[in-house]
Amino acid sequence: MVVVMQRTCISCGMKRPKQELCRFVWRDEMPMQDFQQSESGRGAYCCEGERCHQAFFKERKKWKRVFRL
Ligand SMILES: [Zn+2]
Repeated sequence: MVVVMQRTCISCGMKRPKQELCRFVWRDEMPMQDFQQSESGRGAYCCEGERCHQAFFKERKKWKRVFRL
């Protein structure tokens, strides 16, 4: 049995397999998309859809919590 790593989208709260989500890491005072999902540091996950992406960049107060700033 394959264990699927589930992550939660910080915009809509939906749980999905890690591979289906976009990963972001904190770099230079901004969230940076980690396309390879291999950057070090705390990652935040978000669905690939436009809506979740926009919500992610709009909700700046969430960044503090998800990136442990
Ligand atoms: Zn989402």
